[in-house]
Amino acid sequence: MTLTQKVAVVTGSTSGIGLGIARALAGAGADVVLNGFGDAAAIEELRAGLVAEFGVRVGYHGADLSKPAEIAALIGHAEETFGSVDVLVNNAGIQHVAPVEDFPADRWDAVIALNLSAVFHGTHHALPGMKRRGWGRILNIASVHGHVASVNKSAYVAAKHGVVGLTKTVALETAGTGVTCNAICPGWVLTPLVQKQIDAIASTKNIPEPQAKAELLGAKQPSGAFVTPDELGGLAVFLCSDSAAQMTGASLLMDGGWTAQ
Ligand code: NAD
Repeated sequence: MTLTQKVAVVTGSTSGIGLGIARALAGAGADVVLNGFGDAAAIEELRAGLVAEFGVRVGYHGADLSKPAEIAALIGHAEETFGSVDVLVNNAGIQHVAPVEDFPADRWDAVIALNLSAVFHGTHHALPGMKRRGWGRILNIASVHGHVASVNKSAYVAAKHGVVGLTKTVALETAGTGVTCNAICPGWVLTPLVQKQIDAIASTKNIPEPQAKAELLGAKQPSGAFVTPDELGGLAVFLCSDSAAQMTGASLLMDGGWTAQ
């Protein structure tokens, strides 16, 4: 158990990649604070299920990560309830797809607020405690879109490139303190965020869902398979381990070969 007696806050962990990472960290012995939207009873079931499965403490805080004051409250709640925030996974994110000239300004603001600014605010509030204790791990869930662009994703690509830059800056500012900061950059992962894009392809092209999935993968991801939340969870646990103590400022691609082309 590499992470026993460590406390991890995973934003956007009621679904998808965040949930996969929260499960993996709990499996490695960390206490976990979940965050994200969803039905209250379903979230409680999830929380209690992790406690039962892994025997760690699991909490939940429903902060809206697009609001800086609620991010401060999330980190404060974790520190007060569980004693510290040793691992911060900045994962919550949304997508909006439209050409730049049609991109609604309010959608631009929403994507930047959650996918980029929330990473700053979470780091800003969690870092003092990590530095004081001389140990911390900040994992920013960027994207392959932190390295390359795709059409119609201006806000998302800008935010994810920003996250990669922010990761490097935080890595430099924390070098030698026992705190590391790295970005994880997945290709396609089959989560609700991507299912919406598959549904849009199916309805625009009037094709069955499996064909839309194959087209989505075929256009970008040479492996022809989705990355899974479990695989990303494995990378997250590695980055929290002692073996990764000298890995900082990295942006690690897990993209089925997307960016090798
Ligand atoms: P998802 O939609 O399955 O999960 C998003 C999570 O964020 C949910 O728990 C949701 O409740 C939460 N959330 C949404 N808005 C929030 C807010 N304002 N405050 C707090 N929580 C909020 O999405 P996902 O695919 O698991 O995406 C997670 C992260 O991974 C995102 O940053 C996304 O950009 C990134 N990512 C996803 C893929 C992919 O293919 N799915 C690829 C690369 C990167």
